[in-house]
Amino acid sequence: MKIKVNKRALMDDGAPNKSTSIINGRSSNILNWDDTAFNWAYPKYKRMLGNFWTPFEINMSQDIKQFSQLTEIEQEAFLKIIGLLALLDSIQTDYAGRVADYLTDSSLNALMIILAQQEVIHNHSYSYVLSSLVTAKKQEEVFEFWRSEPVLVSRNEFVMNGYKDFAEQPSVESLLKSIVFDVILEGLFFYSGFAFFYNLARNQKMVATSTMINYINRDEQLHVDLFVKIFQEILREFPECRTAEFEQFVSSTFIKAASLEIEWGKHIIGDKIDGISMKDLEAYIKFYANVRCSQLGFGKPFEGYRQNPMKWIAAYEDADKGRSDFFEQKSRQYTKINSVDNGFDEL
Ligand code: ZN
Ligand code: ZN
Repeated sequence: MKIKVNKRALMDDGAPNKSTSIINGRSSNILNWDDTAFNWAYPKYKRMLGNFWTPFEINMSQDIKQFSQLTEIEQEAFLKIIGLLALLDSIQTDYAGRVADYLTDSSLNALMIILAQQEVIHNHSYSYVLSSLVTAKKQEEVFEFWRSEPVLVSRNEFVMNGYKDFAEQPSVESLLKSIVFDVILEGLFFYSGFAFFYNLARNQKMVATSTMINYINRDEQLHVDLFVKIFQEILREFPECRTAEFEQFVSSTFIKAASLEIEWGKHIIGDKIDGISMKDLEAYIKFYANVRCSQLGFGKPFEGYRQNPMKWIAAYEDADKGRSDFFEQKSRQYTKINSVDNGFDEL
């Protein structure tokens, strides 16, 4: 049976400011950060604000010089990954807004709006990088990859169909299922791309772009955590939704997602890129699928795969743990040199 999910009222003068539940509850819709229904909302708000950055801070001049020195295979992977990320972040902006409409609590709506704003900045960074490195015509082409590249088409369709069910027929079940796809999008489908950029950075290549990727990675970690919290709270309030069938859905969806991500990894990285072996990348993807399922509170879909096989990457991606000095230092050198343009004046 499908449980209906209701949109938040614009104003409800008979309801408390603090919502009575996460969805299908009542709230006046007044936002008081000191009186929110979930004690994690305000700390999350502070962390999301603390991440604030814009592409304007990043000086691209070094990357502009280096891009033409990359191998043809590296250049192609670079552009295809940017093309992929551009699609994912565009859809994500819209999806966040749609979910926000159904969250009863005004503070969670606020968090989703900040999340959506960060996705807009991610998209800006792709335009910023491309307009620095390639011609306008090439940039247009990259923004078409999502429908012109067959490997991308099948991968993207998978997530989009997951979102579409909720967008077209919102229910508690379709919302929960869409969050599983969200965690795949933000917590798994970005990761081969991240690995590629971090590998470039550790070889002192395209450090400005990789710095932006690191900032995006840092934002995405908070986004995954926010959606996981919302997911768990909905399941807590609607325990009847946690059926054997739903558990099966989570597991099979992650297995399918991992296979699509591995296929994509073979396409862009394969064994063509120095520093990343396909065997490690495959294990890395399965490891992350396991991590995300555990975060959601479900069993691990892949036996074994309990450790990150690409240890070197942890220093780059765990920005929250204060270990990404590499980028922090780099970005400090890069920032403020010229915060107005992308360094074109140095060409
Ligand atoms: Zn994003
Ligand atoms: Zn995100």
